[in-house]
Amino acid sequence: MADDIIGIDLGTTNSAVGVVESGFPILLAGEDGSRIVPSAVWVGQDGDVEVGKSALRRRGAGAQVATSIKRFMGRRYAEVADEDFCVPFKEQQDGVPAFELNGGDYTAVQISAEILKHLKQVAETQLERSVSKAVITVPAYFNDAQRNATKQAGELAGLEVMRIVSEPTAAALAYGLDKLGEKSRVAVYDLGGGTFDISVLELHEGVFQVLATAGDTRLGGDDIDEALAQWCWSQLDTGESFDNLANQERQRLLDEAKLVKEKLTEADRVGLSIPFFRENFHVSLEITRDTLERVMRPVIAKTEGLCRRVLADAGIKDVEVDLNAVVLVGGSTRIPAVRDLVGRVFRREPDSSQHPDEAVAIGAVIQGGVMSGALRDMVLLDVTPLSLGIETFGGLMNVLIPRNTTIPCKAGEMFTNAIANQEMMRVRVLQGEREMARDNWELGSVDVSFDPAPKGQARVGVQFSIDENGILEVLARDVSTGKDTVLEINSAAVDVDDSDVEKMVSESVDYAFEDMAERIFTEARLKAEELLPAVEMGLAQVQDVMEPAELEEIRSAEAAVRAALEGREPNPLKAAVQRLDKATEHMAAVLVEKAMEEALMRKLGE
Ligand code: ADP
Ligand code: MG
Repeated sequence: MADDIIGIDLGTTNSAVGVVESGFPILLAGEDGSRIVPSAVWVGQDGDVEVGKSALRRRGAGAQVATSIKRFMGRRYAEVADEDFCVPFKEQQDGVPAFELNGGDYTAVQISAEILKHLKQVAETQLERSVSKAVITVPAYFNDAQRNATKQAGELAGLEVMRIVSEPTAAALAYGLDKLGEKSRVAVYDLGGGTFDISVLELHEGVFQVLATAGDTRLGGDDIDEALAQWCWSQLDTGESFDNLANQERQRLLDEAKLVKEKLTEADRVGLSIPFFRENFHVSLEITRDTLERVMRPVIAKTEGLCRRVLADAGIKDVEVDLNAVVLVGGSTRIPAVRDLVGRVFRREPDSSQHPDEAVAIGAVIQGGVMSGALRDMVLLDVTPLSLGIETFGGLMNVLIPRNTTIPCKAGEMFTNAIANQEMMRVRVLQGEREMARDNWELGSVDVSFDPAPKGQARVGVQFSIDENGILEVLARDVSTGKDTVLEINSAAVDVDDSDVEKMVSESVDYAFEDMAERIFTEARLKAEELLPAVEMGLAQVQDVMEPAELEEIRSAEAAVRAALEGREPNPLKAAVQRLDKATEHMAAVLVEKAMEEALMRKLGE
């Protein structure tokens, strides 16, 4: 089996890791049973490290813990000197900020590497095998330095970073939007803990391109927590300002506000209580969803402004027409008021088929699975990798099911006998992209017998159907008797080696010109072979009554067709056949007239 490539969402607030197992992208849970790991890092006196919930718990107990380190990835001290942060930081000699954790200095890359090491460990414990390759996501707006810093963090964690994928692209993959048609446009609304991102993507040959992106690196669930905590504090009428509270007190209120906020996603009212907030002071409040919605309104109003800007930047005039989907990403989009806003701005029900806080990680997993080959089988079973059809007159390929058709599927066509008194037709089932039957692969054949009939009179219906397991059933029916012949072809119709598919498709491109020329020639030749004897027969009947000039043109057109047949050039033959067709138009009308006259005479004579 190929090496696993794990997918990682290295988020500002939360991170997650997963892998493709048995063809399905899944996220892996840590020891605490949670698939979401807070992006929090604590370092102990002797350099031991804790990541995730346990690190956050230590903050509750007053320890210094690094959270939201992603803000500093790939940024110089000079750029961030004014920002406040949860731990002190200073400028290193190389101009990179260093963060102080328990007396030691760590860069943003080193702290992020600890989160990645932890995620790698989670994966290895769950999978019971070692992993060394990863796909990691970054925000769409991350510049080169920020992407490189993320890559470095991966390498420091012992991971070979196979690809850096932008978060909206990953989310769109998770929602399966790559299955939408070419040029489809989708919006990804991502409201996380500390950041807001809104992007419009456009699909080009299965790959998403970012048309426009906007956001706010200081806007998210944290702001809602803060607004709610402030409101709660104001309700207590202490006369003290929230901003002047001791750090630990503030943090307790914020933590409780966050819990209440999350509960209010489901409940209409929730109690907040912090016993012994201060010696004899217990905090106890009841908060309704209405209150939450009121205090968070400024936050979602800001996202609305950014959405409108990005839609304008992406050239989207009418969201109902120019946009194919909108998806929700980030834990804060679980909040009903946020969903309502997105529905209003984008004028549609947002897709909520994925967990919003897991979608980015799932997308990274899918990307990793495609790259490692773990997802190939699944992807290939979804659609027909190559066209399926049958051979028709002249050795041409007649496609019934084009390549990339989603299965299960069904298609049929009617065929007639090319030769008078033919008693049998061979249905050769072909797979491939070439115009001539002989250049495609034969999957099987079946003989359909029917009663002898004049040319073009016997009719055989052929139907292809592929079930969800990729089994192709070919049914051929003699229309006059209703007799069916059935041929079953195993999963060969959809199960084709990737490299063979590639070879077939690239050959069809390489030979496109020659193939097309041969098809045009063959079609024109079949027409010529039908036309020439018919013209001869017609002339024998009516040439006495025709103008000499017309006769001459027919003769010369006939000669041109014969010459073009010899010449084997497709376009001259096509032109010659068309000329003969035109030259005989009047003769054909005369023939019809004559036949009708004769029929009438017979009638009268009877
Ligand atoms: P990020 O992408 O910033 O790392 P996430 O997408 O995991 O973060 O979002 C984290 C935010 O989502 C936090 O502010 C958290 O409170 C919020 N959140 C998570 N679950 C819920 C919920 N059920 N209701 C409201 N907010 C939630
Ligand atoms: Mg995120």
